[in-house]
Amino acid sequence: MPKRRRTEDGMSDEEPQDLTLEDNPEGPTVRSGEVWFDDGNIILRAGNTEFKVHRGVLASHSPVFADMFQVPQPTRGPTVDDCPEVRLHDDTFDVTYMLAALYGKTDLLGSDGVLHFRAMRAMIRLGKKYQIEHLRNDGLRCLKREFTMTLEDFDKLDPDEYLNFSPLPKDSNPKAIDPVGTMVATINLALECGIQSVLPAVYLLTTSNTLGEFLYHKDASSIPFDAMRSCIYGREQLLQEWLGSGNAHISASTSISHTGDCKAASISLVRAASKCPDDLSNLLLPWVSLVERWDTLKQPSERLCRTCKQNVQLSHDTWRRKVWEDLPKYFKLGVWGDLQDAET
Ligand SMILES: [Zn+2]
Repeated sequence: MPKRRRTEDGMSDEEPQDLTLEDNPEGPTVRSGEVWFDDGNIILRAGNTEFKVHRGVLASHSPVFADMFQVPQPTRGPTVDDCPEVRLHDDTFDVTYMLAALYGKTDLLGSDGVLHFRAMRAMIRLGKKYQIEHLRNDGLRCLKREFTMTLEDFDKLDPDEYLNFSPLPKDSNPKAIDPVGTMVATINLALECGIQSVLPAVYLLTTSNTLGEFLYHKDASSIPFDAMRSCIYGREQLLQEWLGSGNAHISASTSISHTGDCKAASISLVRAASKCPDDLSNLLLPWVSLVERWDTLKQPSERLCRTCKQNVQLSHDTWRRKVWEDLPKYFKLGVWGDLQDAET
């Protein structure tokens, strides 16, 4: 199964593949293989790709296109197939996905209700730019379900893979996923479109990779300095919180009066938990899920007596609820209530 965090397993053959497009503005003009209607009456051009579509369809979804088409077209403007051509200064992928969504070509957007990351990004970006509310809302819903504001919603996610969109493929191998590239692109999307509410959960996800994997990814330099600083600062804060109160709650919840195997397990557990975990974002998971993903905790945790095990689970739950409540502060984002999303 593809993992969204540390591992980069290949996609299975059944995994929906991203749209394959050549986006080379310098290259020769090409007709879109996906969006070209012979009876269309307007040509949109993005990069070197042309799309033949219908003014009425665009205008019915978008007041921006409606206004654009009200302006009389220059009689000597460029034409293709006897249709006026309008140049859009947008990414070719974005325009393709926007038109696919407007024309109900849902198979291009993803499969089984799971959007490709690029499709979701296009819907949010161009839904905002061209004021296509339903497109923007569909994209935002998908993003916000994956990057939640509440711990209850976070617990409904699969810590090992994205549930609401399929991650970006690697440039070098389209069959493999690029977990760090996906989170970098998510951060940039959230900042570009003013979607602040997702930032704590996205920044938290950056702690699932090592700092080296994150900082030295080929796309990492595209993250604005303030956001990068927040990610690194928050990582440090989260680790300190774990090594401080996180560990204290474990030793406090096992009983010193217990003897034998439970006492030995408790000592081993505290010792194992005093290390830095490979994946810091796992610390926010319920205890049972955390120990499943942290090998050195698993064995001593299983050897605890029933009472101590329950105590550890409960105290870890209290700890992670407090951390989640303060999560925006860890990343210098204020408090949850401050995180307002841009309306348009
Ligand atoms: Zn015990």
